[in-house]
Amino acid sequence: MTNSKIIIIGGGLAGLTAAYLLHKKGLGVLVLEASSQLGGRIQTVTGITNVTIEMGATWFGEQHPTLLRFLDELELDFFKQHTKGISLFETMSFVPPQKFEIPDSDEPSYRLAGGTSVLIEKLVSKIGLENIKKNTKIIDIKEKGDQIELTDSNGNTYFTPKVIMTLPPNLAVSTIDYDPKLPESFQDLAQNTHTWMGESIKFAVEYVTPFWRNKQYSGALFSHVGIITEMYDHSTFDNKGFALKGFLNGGTNVLTKEERKEKVLTQLVKYFGAEAENHVEYHEKVWKEDPLAFFSYDSLVLAHKNNGHPEYQKSLYNDKLFFAGSETASQNPGYMDGAIVAAQTIISKFE
Ligand SMILES: Cc1cc2nc3c(=O)[nH]c(=O)nc-3n(C[C@H](O)[C@H](O)[C@H](O)COP(=O)(O)OP(=O)(O)OC[C@H]3O[C@@H](n4cnc5c(N)ncnc54)[C@H](O)[C@@H]3O)c2cc1C
Repeated sequence: MTNSKIIIIGGGLAGLTAAYLLHKKGLGVLVLEASSQLGGRIQTVTGITNVTIEMGATWFGEQHPTLLRFLDELELDFFKQHTKGISLFETMSFVPPQKFEIPDSDEPSYRLAGGTSVLIEKLVSKIGLENIKKNTKIIDIKEKGDQIELTDSNGNTYFTPKVIMTLPPNLAVSTIDYDPKLPESFQDLAQNTHTWMGESIKFAVEYVTPFWRNKQYSGALFSHVGIITEMYDHSTFDNKGFALKGFLNGGTNVLTKEERKEKVLTQLVKYFGAEAENHVEYHEKVWKEDPLAFFSYDSLVLAHKNNGHPEYQKSLYNDKLFFAGSETASQNPGYMDGAIVAAQTIISKFE
């Protein structure tokens, strides 16, 4: 059975942006997403107190002009990351953390009002849910004449003249079979392309009040000592929900969630006193354990390695298969800005 709809594999920011842009051009499109959730590495969870917590992408700034223009087009509001107050820098276990203030003149980081997932929700409302199929994990891609045949893990097949692949490149070549095989040099490149934040562990602790602010702390912390390596105030734009959120030492994936939680609270009590213990909920996400986000490398692949490699701008299977995830972008690859850039670049090739 032939089909004229362009198929996009992956319903993260790149896939949904590509779908939105194609839809805007009046072209038929179908997004196939493996998970029951859309957004991929954008994952906003709602806490018990209704605070929105980013387990994935959070910040952007003036260095991300494509994303800023896109947010303007979609009429989405953003606000400055709270940094006012005393921040902490802990270099050694046997000396107290150094105290410093982040100057007001520093270029701000922004966060989306309502959580990063508002961007995903807005795109879905523009594309239409009828053009998106969730719980559809593609496992096989075959070139068949002037069509591509895709097979999902339930055995369903899909035919299309063009496929836009938006998985991180390593995941795309390591978890999907290709017939004919992709060129060896391309496979090798993709397997050695870093997936931004794939190895990270995010945590958040939800509170009823921003007690650290009352003690003149900003909530920002950088530590070479504790399980928390980096942290920020994560309260909502309207100051109705309160949390501290950041990153844990990547090696602590060997601990249980309870063990990580205990170490996080102990570290917070050390800086902010006993009130830190009095939390509402502890949240975390170990990204390398998410098989739809990360696939381990065979060799050492440092941050951003091969991100934005020019090979990704070339099509495969005689102009029928295109790679367009954030890591392929020619600007700011790995970031949300890169996801939009990658989608825009690919769409400019479709009429
Ligand atoms: C912890 C963390 C923090 C981050 N912080 C920031 C930040 O502060 N600022 C910033 O700009 N960026 C940040 N990023 C990066 C940002 O999230 C990504 O650049 C962006 O979301 C990537 O979008 P994408 O669509 O290219 O890829 P993804 O979001 O990875 O989307 C790929 C999609 O494909 C789906 N999928 C996987 N396998 C299959 C399959 N076989 N078949 C069908 N679908 C499949 C996945 O479920 C996913 O939805 C962060 C990422 C993480 C993980």
